[in-house]
Amino acid sequence: MTSLSDIGTSNLVAVEPGAAIREDTPAGSVIQYSDYELDTSSPFAGGVAWIEGEYMPAEEAKISIFDTGFGHSDLTYTVAHVWHGNIFRLGDHLDRLLDGSRKLRLDAGMSKDELAEITKKCVSLSQLRESFVNLTVTRGYGKRKGEKDLTKLTHQVYIYAIPYLWAFPPAEQIFGTTAVVPRHVRRAGRNTVDPTIKNYQWGDLTAASFEAKDRGARTAILLDSDNCVAEGPGFNVCIVKDGKLASPSRNALPGITRKTVFEIAEQMGIDATLRDVTSHELYEADELMAVTTAGGVTPINSLDGEAIGNGEPGPMTVAIRDRFWALMDEPSPLIEAIQY
Ligand SMILES: *Cc1c(COP(=O)(O)O)cnc(C)c1O
Repeated sequence: MTSLSDIGTSNLVAVEPGAAIREDTPAGSVIQYSDYELDTSSPFAGGVAWIEGEYMPAEEAKISIFDTGFGHSDLTYTVAHVWHGNIFRLGDHLDRLLDGSRKLRLDAGMSKDELAEITKKCVSLSQLRESFVNLTVTRGYGKRKGEKDLTKLTHQVYIYAIPYLWAFPPAEQIFGTTAVVPRHVRRAGRNTVDPTIKNYQWGDLTAASFEAKDRGARTAILLDSDNCVAEGPGFNVCIVKDGKLASPSRNALPGITRKTVFEIAEQMGIDATLRDVTSHELYEADELMAVTTAGGVTPINSLDGEAIGNGEPGPMTVAIRDRFWALMDEPSPLIEAIQY
């Protein structure tokens, strides 16, 4: 297991292409990489980006410093994933991306099908069987450098497929992780930053990650200004109490992993509700989980240094996590095989 001294500030753990393309995963666990080799005679092997109509090796990906996505965080994005050569819930990711674009008055200039084709082509060219796939729509830039007139900007779409990045290393997804509730920062309210639009306005989440590191924990669960649970840096939070599951209905992104967790819960006959979750309920929970594309369903064993339940991954979390990973291999409308 990762020791506390290994915990970096970022909660993303890189998996580099080449020899070390696979992060260590606990033997016999539900998280196992495909066994394959990259054909490195292709310049695209190991990572591909699509920028302004062109596919390029991920190392060569560059965008304009004048893009308002950079200057004003004027954008929305999504992160989908490929596992065992199957892309998971791409349609849902594109719906959320296009819904966010519409709310922000961004025009991707492409249909859902066109975006899907480019995305799958990036993965296919990369040869990656396990991949972290990012699609970003920005307000772009104008002819004049630094143009701020919102009507004079050409919106941009950037897509890339790179080796899997984990919000929680596989070992923590199996054996559990640690979190704190930040003392110094609250999640931005929904009237400030619309939490239903996936965004890079990470000031509160980054401050929370630093605080977690300072206090010797992997990550943080932020509360909102009403002392209700919001979410963590890139993940939704689900609590289990007396056999029932709940997750915050506001000040949190409608996560696609959480949607999957709720569907799994329903199939298992578990009562699952989106509602306000108070800080009190968080500390009193029998089980806590962090759920995200970049980390599956990760059990949280301790909060502010105190054990959750008996301090080990709870039975409902483990059952849902294992079912989640099983979905990546089972033929269903949720997955689509990439044609390599
Ligand atoms: C991406 C993200 C999540 C998790 O959403 P998924 O669709 O499950 O990956 C949760 N909260 C925030 C703030 C996020 O950016």
